[in-house]
Amino acid sequence: MVGSSALVLNATYEPLCVVSVRRATILVLTAKAECVSDGDGILHSASEELPVPSVVRLTRYVKVPYRTHVGLSRRAIFARDGGRCAYCRGSAETIDHVFPRSRGGLHAWENVVAACAKCNHSKGDKTPAELGWRLHSIPQAPRGVAWRVLGHRTPDPRWMDWLDLPDTHAAPAPAEAA
Ligand SMILES: [Zn+2]
Repeated sequence: MVGSSALVLNATYEPLCVVSVRRATILVLTAKAECVSDGDGILHSASEELPVPSVVRLTRYVKVPYRTHVGLSRRAIFARDGGRCAYCRGSAETIDHVFPRSRGGLHAWENVVAACAKCNHSKGDKTPAELGWRLHSIPQAPRGVAWRVLGHRTPDPRWMDWLDLPDTHAAPAPAEAA
């Protein structure tokens, strides 16, 4: 949920990860991080009052090995494609394998797209070329800082200054549960 998590920046202001507000608060209270941007509300502890952090910056630089591979999930595909059908740009409800699985198509970033139920159904086990359909964009594995840090999360608007976001992240992913 937006507002219940905080963005953590490295000492160099490079986005690192997203943690719970509770975890971010502990980082600030223990002087491991400083608050860069306040969230909503005030936290009360025995001795002090502290604005809820939305963005924190580590006081010491940490070297982190990055996960370069983004896991292939329904939510991640919807987030990449902005929740839009790859064929008609309508609202997507399903995942389509561009080259059908029944004919050996891979379950891979390059062969999956978000699709509306209508397009998916009428496509059946044909390829877009066989139908004369055109893909709105060539499907690719997502890359970049935003994906590494956010995954399928919907970013808090207060994080935007720190993330170099592709357009697809501007639209909230549907069926966001966490
Ligand atoms: Zn469609």
